[in-house]
Amino acid sequence: MTRLALFDRAAYETDALATWQADHPDIDLVITTHPLTPQTVALSEGCAAVSIQPVGAALDPSIYAELQRRGVRALALRTTGFDAVDLVAARTHGITVTNVPAYSPPAIAELALLMLLALNRKLPTLERRAAQHDYRWAGVLGREIRSQTIGVIGVGRIGSVFARFCRGLGAHVVGYDIAPNHELDDAVEFVDSLEELLSRADVVSVHTPLDDSTRGMIDTTFLAALRPGAIVINCARGPIVEPDALVSALEAGHLGGVGLDVMPGEDGIFDAQVDAARMAGTLFGRLAGRDDVVLTPHIAFYTDTGVANMLRFGLDNALAAGTGDPRPDGAPVDAVN
Ligand code: NAD
Repeated sequence: MTRLALFDRAAYETDALATWQADHPDIDLVITTHPLTPQTVALSEGCAAVSIQPVGAALDPSIYAELQRRGVRALALRTTGFDAVDLVAARTHGITVTNVPAYSPPAIAELALLMLLALNRKLPTLERRAAQHDYRWAGVLGREIRSQTIGVIGVGRIGSVFARFCRGLGAHVVGYDIAPNHELDDAVEFVDSLEELLSRADVVSVHTPLDDSTRGMIDTTFLAALRPGAIVINCARGPIVEPDALVSALEAGHLGGVGLDVMPGEDGIFDAQVDAARMAGTLFGRLAGRDDVVLTPHIAFYTDTGVANMLRFGLDNALAAGTGDPRPDGAPVDAVN
């Protein structure tokens, strides 16, 4: 009987997991809520593949040899981003890594759009005031997206959906991508440099992966190149933003608003109830509660469709890559190495 191990099992995966298990009665599935660490890796003994959904922290460097020693042939992420995995170390130890590149791009694009519209219409201010029965109009004059230029950095699966949403609402969309997809030319005006995008955009939304080319990309220079009053949205990965630079630009009034679903140092804070005193003076403390900030705890993916697809595609990939069988639908495994 083929054995797989599922780490990081979340409560919200219960229904999708039950469905997958009912569809695969012949698979012995070892399930744990714990992450894959040197302390838990023994659970993968005899498994063809392990499925994980790491949040933030990189896997311990010893994991790859430990998996190989236990006969594991594949490491199947239930997430899109694979920055927690050392792909070279995995390859060195004969472990195929798969991710779920597209479980629901609209889930992330919709949250970015929601942040944009909320900031345009001063929703944080209005909600805070309404809670105090303050219904004045002062200071809440809105902006319409059709009069804006929206800059999309990274026009891939998610960025292209976001771009089309914005275009559909009448915005002009400029895009910057190291590999522009000109099939999107009907919706996106691709520009040749980041500088051009920053100088023209009223709103910038970043949808790149986190890698050496994007780590710290939103820094002092980036922010200074933006038009005064511009809005910055990051629903990609926290470390793409240089946090002090962002908060300084907000506090100086250079930015018109910020929407963040991801933060540097979010691990252990997002999806947790955190003591307010602990947050004082931190990046989170400086951003949360501001009228020009929409801050969400890495929930862009967190929709009914998104989580069901992550679980199902992730385990399908684990099974296929671990056993060497083709996927049931005959499509190639979404291997990233
Ligand atoms: P994708 O690979 O389809 O698209 C990324 C695009 O960025 C590609 O077109 C690529 O050419 C471009 N790119 C790469 N480096 C660039 C650079 N330096 N400058 C400009 N463009 C660059 O990926 P995707 O599926 O659209 O996902 C994008 C990112 O969204 C993921 O890597 C992940 O970090 C993030 N994400 C976040 C959540 C969430 O819940 N907040 C959920 C899923 C994905």
